[in-house]
Amino acid sequence: MEIDPLYKVKLGYLDNQISNKLYNLIFKGFTIVKEGIRRIEYTTNIKFPFFYIEPNLLVSYSSLDVTEYGVLFARTIPIIGLDNKLNIIIQIMAPLVAYGTKRSIYAILGHEFLHYLHLLSKINRMDILSDNRSNNFYECIYEDQNHLVDAKKVFNNDKILLHYITNKFEDGFKDSTLEKKVVQKWVNAGLPIRKIKIEDNNIKIPVEYILNFSLNSKLREKLMSLEK
Ligand SMILES: [Zn+2]
Repeated sequence: MEIDPLYKVKLGYLDNQISNKLYNLIFKGFTIVKEGIRRIEYTTNIKFPFFYIEPNLLVSYSSLDVTEYGVLFARTIPIIGLDNKLNIIIQIMAPLVAYGTKRSIYAILGHEFLHYLHLLSKINRMDILSDNRSNNFYECIYEDQNHLVDAKKVFNNDKILLHYITNKFEDGFKDSTLEKKVVQKWVNAGLPIRKIKIEDNNIKIPVEYILNFSLNSKLREKLMSLEK
């Protein structure tokens, strides 16, 4: 079954939560998202997972330190589908799609793809019982880097894409122009924001789902080669 990645955005538009102007911006940015995904698939020869555009700004905060918070422009999340099977999906936040530059959009797509591959190789090795992330932001950024496969190995054939990813994520994602725009045009305009605790962003997958997860042999071989 194919699900329209813009389904939730379209619902938000019909519900008048998203203006005509914003809808058009998201729609325009969506073509960059699709181009970025095609480019990732082309250079890696691996299919990009299911993704969709979330019409919310996602802000994470730490329950230990309320002064620390961060904007999440995308995340890679394992979900249990209606068919009771494990799926890994990528959620891309609408503010990124609407206001991000091509560079930032490509960098974030590539970064999430590295998380996706990392999760797949963990599943492949079947050792992901609980993936504890820390509460502290510094450690979270530090750990974030540890939850990736090596960008140089994955994007070796596309030096420009590799440059976007490594450049934008040198020390967590950095794009101050985008952040300013998001505060101005999304936060101050009262558009929908969802807050999540960093701790709730933990990845915990029951082992039976992992055992039932099917990976084709071609992808399995690829994942092993990336681990070397
Ligand atoms: Zn990350």
